[in-house]
Amino acid sequence: MSKGLLIVISGPSGAGKGTICKELLKELDLNLSISATTREPRKGEVDGTNYFFISKDKFQEMLLNNEFLEHAEVYSNYYGTPKEYVFDMLEEGKDVLLEIDIQGALSIKEIYPDGVFIFILPPSMEELKNRIEKRATETKEAMIKRLDAAYKELKYVFKYDYGVLNDTVDSAVDNINSIIKAEKCKVNRQ
Ligand code: 5GP
Repeated sequence: MSKGLLIVISGPSGAGKGTICKELLKELDLNLSISATTREPRKGEVDGTNYFFISKDKFQEMLLNNEFLEHAEVYSNYYGTPKEYVFDMLEEGKDVLLEIDIQGALSIKEIYPDGVFIFILPPSMEELKNRIEKRATETKEAMIKRLDAAYKELKYVFKYDYGVLNDTVDSAVDNINSIIKAEKCKVNRQ
C-alpha cells in the first residue's frame, strides 16, 4: 500500500489558511492533525477539536519525550504537531492535513520532503491588514506584531512547492484540490 499524502498548509497570519482548511476538510477525504498549544482557548474553541490546550509543563514533557514532529514558538505561545497521529495515518495510506506556521512547515520539509508544501498568499497587502485587524481577538499590540510578522513572512513562499492566492476561498480550494490530484498521480511517489 502506498503511503498517504502529507499536505502542509501554511502562510502568514490573516492569509486565510483556517477558512481554506475548513473547506478542504468538507470537500476531501483528509485527516486533520490537531496541534498541541500552550495558548489560551479563544471563545468557541474546543479542546481536542481546535487544539489540545495544554500547560507549558505538559508541552515541555511532550517535547522531552520526542512526541512532536515539529514545534515552534508563535507569538509567545508554543505549538507542536503530535508525531504519532501523523505517521500512523500516513502508514495506513490516509492523507493528513497540517495547518501550521512557516517555521514548522520548513522544519517538516527538512525531515519529510515527500510532503506537499502549500503557501497561502493573501489577495493583497491591504486585505491582509483588514483581515488581521478584523480578527481583533487579541490586544492591539498583539495585532501589530502579527501584521509586522505577516509582511516579513511573505518572502518564504519561494521555499514552498506551491503558492496559492486566496482571492476567493472557492478558487483557492479548487487550486489546492488540483494540486492534491496531481500529487497523487506522481509516478515517483513512494
Ligand atoms: P492561532 O493561535 O491563531 O490558532 O495560530 C497561530 C499560528 O500558529 C498559525 O499560523 C497556525 O497555523 C500556527 N500553528 C498552529 N498549530 C501549529 C503547530 O502545531 N505547529 C506550528 N509550527 N504552528 C502551528
